[in-house]
Amino acid sequence: MNSQVKIQVTDLHKSFGSNNVLQGIDLEIREGEVLCVIGPSGSGKSTLLRCLNKLEDITSGTVVVDGFDVTDPKVDINEVRRHVGMVFQHFNLFPHMSVAENIMLAPVELKKMNRTEARAKALELLERVGLKEKADARPASLSGGQKQRVAIARALAMSPGIMLFDEATSALDPEMVGEVLQVIKELADSGMTMVLVTHEMGFAREVADRVVFMADGVVCEQGKPEDLFGNPQQARTQDFLSKVL
Ligand code: ADP
Ligand code: MG
Repeated sequence: MNSQVKIQVTDLHKSFGSNNVLQGIDLEIREGEVLCVIGPSGSGKSTLLRCLNKLEDITSGTVVVDGFDVTDPKVDINEVRRHVGMVFQHFNLFPHMSVAENIMLAPVELKKMNRTEARAKALELLERVGLKEKADARPASLSGGQKQRVAIARALAMSPGIMLFDEATSALDPEMVGEVLQVIKELADSGMTMVLVTHEMGFAREVADRVVFMADGVVCEQGKPEDLFGNPQQARTQDFLSKVL
């Protein structure tokens, strides 16, 4: 229970012009913890994730990720991003490169890993997501579920200590959701520290150590999945869950 704090968010505010999207978020995520973030569309879930690896500039507050103060102007943001893998709704694979080359790109360019080593690592990761035979295929020849599994392998190629998922299955055809959730679940079971924004309530209930319900830019309620889903305390949470469960 004394595991290390991997992410510490303190009084985080983020505005876009006059739109105060995040209005004071406090959140602590410990090593190996799987945190699921749920909440209505527009409540700031994606913005919160993007603040964790500085894809957004923070208006005020502090975010410390793997010991790096992301809000410190002197922080090496590329170094931070090496510690934090992110998977988005859309996979953004490079179409002109093979699957393996997509995965090798960051280790070769950013870590100066040699190509032989990077390819071996790519194949190992492809095996992990069940796609080793697709190493030399182009992304265009893959299904949506396969593309997203490649995107997960690509994020893992930098050996991040933290993985962020922003609705990784919501752009997929329904029959492909399961294979991607399975890969995410295996990652969770392997002890990876993860923050998952998801609409898959059944999955959140199964995989999360803790669920955070966000509404209007604040953490409205959080708790163990069985408590949050089974016995929500806030009217706002009850209302949301009554619509999605
Ligand atoms: P969620 O992921 O919970 O649906 P978002 O974090 O995407 O919510 O968006 C929260 C609010 O922030 C929305 O009102 C959205 O319009 C606004 N927003 C998000 N990104 C930007 C941006 N880059 N510029 C301006 N407004 C933005
Ligand atoms: Mg979003």
